[in-house]
Amino acid sequence: MPSYDPNNIFAKILRGELPCYKVYEDDKALAFLDIMPRAPGHTLVLPKAPARNILDVSPDDFAHVARVAQKIAQAAMTAFDADGITIQQFNEGAGGQVVFHLHVHVIPRKSGVAMKPPASEKEKPEVLAAQAKKLAAAIAAR
Ligand code: 5GP
Repeated sequence: MPSYDPNNIFAKILRGELPCYKVYEDDKALAFLDIMPRAPGHTLVLPKAPARNILDVSPDDFAHVARVAQKIAQAAMTAFDADGITIQQFNEGAGGQVVFHLHVHVIPRKSGVAMKPPASEKEKPEVLAAQAKKLAAAIAAR
């Protein structure tokens, strides 16, 4: 497996070199909206420590990301009036991974509504900003 590349796009977001629509942050994890959401509220949860994917992440960091993903899933059910949540996590190119800093997708779902294909359409900045604010408030209220 290749080694961790500190210039991947999520590493740049974690360092504050690129912006994101943040919904949650603590000392070990950051969560922000996917800019090409497969459904409204599609959120990515990352460990702050460098890890390419599940194959090299520390078990503690992975467990923490899971805890944060659960918190976001619970808040997203109300914030997006969702009927369910899809969790996805891809590892290496063969596993569907495109950005090589570990992340868990939390995708709010409505009954009978299919997810858009991956990276099919960039959402409008004002829509993402409003959704991030709503989800962050729902997370903080829990
Ligand atoms: P994966 O690596 O799990 O296949 O997916 C990477 C995800 O990152 C995709 O869902 C894609 O839409 C998202 N993505 C790609 N570039 C950016 C970006 O610059 N900012 C954000 N927030 N998401 C991104």
